Amino acid sequence: MPAESIDTAPPPDPWSAPLERVLFDAGQIRARVAEMGARLTADYAGKPLTIVTILQGGAVFMADLIREIHLPLTIESLSVASYHGETESSGRVTFHQSRLPAIDGRHVLVLDDILDSGRTLSAILDRLRTERAPLSLRTVVLLSKRIERAAPIEADYAGFEIGGEFIVGYGLDYRGEFRNLPVIGVLKTDRPA
Ligand code: 5GP
Ligand code: MG
Repeated sequence: MPAESIDTAPPPDPWSAPLERVLFDAGQIRARVAEMGARLTADYAGKPLTIVTILQGGAVFMADLIREIHLPLTIESLSVASYHGETESSGRVTFHQSRLPAIDGRHVLVLDDILDSGRTLSAILDRLRTERAPLSLRTVVLLSKRIERAAPIEADYAGFEIGGEFIVGYGLDYRGEFRNLPVIGVLKTDRPA
């Protein structure tokens, strides 16, 4: 048996295996989330802050971001579906619960993974604005697609701007999977079903 085989090829990365291309690796995401947290820490100092996360996609971003906001805050969530498991927006936003979070008298940041057509965030903001009385209402997303929106909305805080491609990872799914990838990227189209 040879004493040693010199192999310079990097080990295969199981996390990137389903991806054709990685847009942001774990280190890039961590650095940007830390910057966003520092900015929010400055902007919300002294204000009663509640973060309302849109599930499921926003969960991973929320978990990292709140640990970079060095202020007292509370968290709430809302569960909606707009993609219904496919790669193109259906145009409908379905609320999975009838009760909205109690946010009266709070400065509210609605958090989502990605701003695409804008329908999801704008439907949520409309309901929170008309059915609740927050002191302020702003939005934070990790990703913002550089596309023409169906609803007239831009995020108050956005981590990265991207093109129109369908992406997965770091909370974003395809048919429920890939949310646990620590990187964000474009799925391989020739992967086995
Ligand atoms: P919008 O209502 O802005 O069109 O879409 C927002 C929602 O659609 C996001 O919360 C996210 O769940 C989903 N979405 C939009 N673009 C993508 C994408 O590229 N990949 C994935 N996985 N979900 C997306
Ligand atoms: Mg979503």
